[in-house]
Amino acid sequence: MLKICPRCHRTFSGGRLCLDCEGVALLDVADRRSQPHLRQAELQHTINTYYGARSAMLLLFASILLGGIGSLLLARHGVVEPGREAWSWFLAAGLALVGTPVAGLLGGVWLVRRLGVCRGSPPTLDDLRASLRARKTDSRA
Ligand SMILES: [Zn+2]
Repeated sequence: MLKICPRCHRTFSGGRLCLDCEGVALLDVADRRSQPHLRQAELQHTINTYYGARSAMLLLFASILLGGIGSLLLARHGVVEPGREAWSWFLAAGLALVGTPVAGLLGGVWLVRRLGVCRGSPPTLDDLRASLRARKTDSRA
């Protein structure tokens, strides 16, 4: 669950009220009332990066699980078929144990980069400074 503040456009992983804007209720990004705020490029990039990171975590978890299960199944063949071929099964089990999570990690990196950058380039330092200046002038007015 990802929430945004409709006033300052900060993102939160939960909660009901913004920590900076007193009394402003947070909106869930799935809520229709948050749709007008989601058109802001900086916020879109932040949210896409969050969802990319969460998807990458799930991918890494699944690859660790599948690598462990796959290596057990391959090692089982080595136990059942002793002899010269057993080493090849154990080698394949070791490769599955290490290779599948590494592939999941690399896939997660690709996913984060793909989701984080797919809607335009990330904001530069100058963009963030200009955004902070605009917020300060808004709060003074
Ligand atoms: Zn706020």
